[in-house]
Order: sequence, then C-alpha cells, then structure tokens
Amino acid sequence: MFTIKSVSGGFRKGKLQTRSGVLDTPLFMPIATKGAVKHIGPEEIQAIGYELILGNTYHLWLRPGDESIKEAGGLHAFMNWNKPILTDSGGFQVFSLGERARKKFGISGVKLTEKNVEFTDPLNGSCHALSPERSIEIQFNLGSDIIMCLDECPPYPCSHNAARMSLELTTRWAQRCYDRFQILTKRSTNKTQSQKPLLFGIIQGSIYEDLRRQSTKEITGINFDGFAIGGVAVGEPREKLHEILKWVIPLLPKDKPRYLMGLGKPEEIAAAVSAGIDMFDCVIPTREGRHGRLFVWNEKFRDSSCENIVQSGKSFYSTINIMNEKFRDDFFPIDRKCTCYACTHYSKAYIRHLLSINEPFGQRLASLHNLTFYYDLMKKLRTE
Ligand SMILES: [Zn+2]
Repeated sequence: MFTIKSVSGGFRKGKLQTRSGVLDTPLFMPIATKGAVKHIGPEEIQAIGYELILGNTYHLWLRPGDESIKEAGGLHAFMNWNKPILTDSGGFQVFSLGERARKKFGISGVKLTEKNVEFTDPLNGSCHALSPERSIEIQFNLGSDIIMCLDECPPYPCSHNAARMSLELTTRWAQRCYDRFQILTKRSTNKTQSQKPLLFGIIQGSIYEDLRRQSTKEITGINFDGFAIGGVAVGEPREKLHEILKWVIPLLPKDKPRYLMGLGKPEEIAAAVSAGIDMFDCVIPTREGRHGRLFVWNEKFRDSSCENIVQSGKSFYSTINIMNEKFRDDFFPIDRKCTCYACTHYSKAYIRHLLSINEPFGQRLASLHNLTFYYDLMKKLRTE
C-alpha cells in the first residue's frame, strides 16, 4: 500500500495506494469540513494539483447524516470528488465543540466513559454518543478511503497522570476500531485488498516523552495501515513539536505512512517533512486567506532545494495582509510568478476591495492563492 521511493536525510518520498487513487507523499490535504472546501469547487482543488481531501466525520454525521450520504452513493458522489478522501474520527470536534454546548445550553457538554463519549450538539442542544465502533461505521458510510481511529485528544495543558489515562483509553479504543474495521471489511463481499479503505491509528501522550513512547509502542503494536501523531496542534508550545517528533518518529515502522494531524504553518510543515512525516492537513491556508493573509514566496528561495527551505526557518516566504492600506492601488498580482487563478487574473487592489466589502469571490481568490502556495511548497518538498 505504501512504497518509499527515496530517502535523503530525514526526507522520505513515497507513494500511497488507496482504492480511489495513488498519492505522492509528502502531501498536504485541503479540508472539506462539511463536504466542501470553503468557497472552492472540487474541480478547482483538483486543478491546483491536490489529490486528497479531508472530510470531517463529526459535521457530516450530524448534518446531513452518514446514512443520507451513503444513500447518495458516498461522500465522493455526494460532493462530486472522485479522488481519495480521508475522514477524521469525529473525536477532535466532539471534545472541542462539545464544551461550547455547555456554555450555550448550560448542559454538561461532554461525558467520557470507557464505552463512548456523550455530547451535546452546540447548534441545537440535541444529545449524541460516539463510540469507537460507531466512528468506524460512520466513516464506512461516508465511503472514506483513509479512515482514522477514534482517539481521546486531551487538552493542553494536561497533567502526566491525565495524559497517561487518556492515551491508555486511546489504545483500547484503537483496538476496538481495528476489530470493527475488520468485521466491516470482511462483510463487504469480494473486496480485494486494493478495494478496501485504509485504517490509521493515532498516537497521543501530550508533551511527555515516556507517554509518547508508550503510546507509539502500543499503537504500532496493532496492524494499522498508517500512523498519525495527534495532540500536537492543541495549544502546546510549538518548540514541543520538535521534541515530540524526535521521540516518536524513530519508533514508527519505516514502511508505513506517517500523518501529523492539524499542522501547520509552512515552516512547521517543512521541518516535519525533513523529520520524516508524509502527510499533513491544516485550516491555515483557507482560514488565513479568508482573513486577507496571503503567503508569498521569497524570491531567493523560489528555486531552492528542500534542504535550503528547511534551513531557512521561515525566511523562504512572507505573509502579507492584503487589507493594508498600501495595497489599495497595487494593481499587480499577489505573487507575479504564482500560477494560481487569482494571480493570473486579478490584482491585489481588486482582491483587497472584494475582501473589504465582504464579497465571497474575494475569499475564494485568496483561498485559491494560499492553497496553491501550500501545494507548491509540498511539490518542492517532494523533489530530491
Ligand atoms: Zn497566486
């Protein structure tokens, strides 16, 4: 399923086979939270070059519902995306959004037990329960190509004892996810290995070395198709990321893909690729774009090697705030050498104007540009 094409220093270049297509790694996946990448159609995502998107199980399960999407022929048919889809487990949103319900409805938002996690939908106050088995079933109904195990994602800061109990629960849940996955894949008749979805386990352990090592050993003890490192974009100091990768990566099997969940800034992605990570997702390019913050290559690094990009820290690019007054009459593109639709057709002044009057087309152009920047970065990091 996963082939390493080359290794140079920490960099890995590989190919990940899924039932909906082969993916070149390292890769970044745009987030189609509720079945769409905000403001952008699937054909535009594909035109940039992206081949994998992330769908959020939590949102799609509650609205419109996994059964409804199954009836539509799965998420691929429902949203008109015929390339691979990765779905998260829903856990991250349950634990983070559930707390909002407490504030809004005064009901205890999240109740965690060995069996499952109960929570209140912050939108309408309705009560739901998500178990490891249910998360896998929902992701099967969505027709996901890469399925994630349900994990408990503890907040930061988290005491050593709480982090230990949490990761041990995550391990027991990982085994339950694996067992349910085996039953469901066996149930689908005549499926060859290449027609089955992939299942990834998630490593937790907060910022504690012994716990990260314990979690890595336990999760890699289960025969997953790939491994994700979770709990690294939850507010912990960013210097901890480097340490967590240093503890976890040497313990991961070399022949399986590694996914760093929820990260990150361009320089964090570059550093993690050089440490041996293969897959990323993050809301930064689209969310920042909608707020007028745009990524631009530093000319000096445009044709640089991936080693130089990593070594530069964050000097290989800059961020401009297009709402700044100085762009009012700037009739040049965001980045003259960028090949995206926004840069080949529109000026900074125009995009600034659209964003300042809250015109969705402006948010679309800004998102397209930032997603192109992220795609170009990954493409560079894939070259030798
Ligand atoms: Zn552009």
